[in-house]
Amino acid sequence: NLLSNALKFTHRGGRVAARLDVAEQAVRFEVEDSGIGIAEENLDRIFTKFYQVDASTTRKAGGVGLGLSISKSIVEVGHGGQMWAERLERGTLVVAQIPLPN
Ligand code: ADP
Repeated sequence: NLLSNALKFTHRGGRVAARLDVAEQAVRFEVEDSGIGIAEENLDRIFTKFYQVDASTTRKAGGVGLGLSISKSIVEVGHGGQMWAERLERGTLVVAQIPLPN
C-alpha cells in the first residue's frame, strides 16, 4: 500500500525509495517519495477511512481511501506498532514501525 501510494502520487522521473531497518527493539519500514506531498494539516487525516486529500487526483490515480487506514490498523492494532507520515521538503515519508518481542 505504501509503495503503490508513493508511485501513484509521484510524477514520472521522480524518486521512490523503500528502506527496511532491523534494530534490536523494532523493525522500521519506510517509503519515501519525491511526489506531490501532503499538507501538514492532512498528515493525520490520510489514515482516516475513506479520506482522500484530493478526490479528483485520486480518481485519476485510482483507490478509495481505505489503504492507509487498513495498513495502520495492521501495524498498530495487529502488531502494537506505530505508523505515521511526514512532510518532506519535496514529497512524503511514511513510516511503519513494529516492536520486536524481547
Ligand atoms: P487511496 O490511495 O486508495 O486513495 P489511501 O488510504 O492509501 O487510499 O490514501 C489516502 C489518501 O492519502 C490518498 O488518496 C492521498 O490523497 C493521500 N496519500 C497517501 N499516500 C500519499 C503519498 N505518498 N503522497 C501524497 N499523497 C498521499
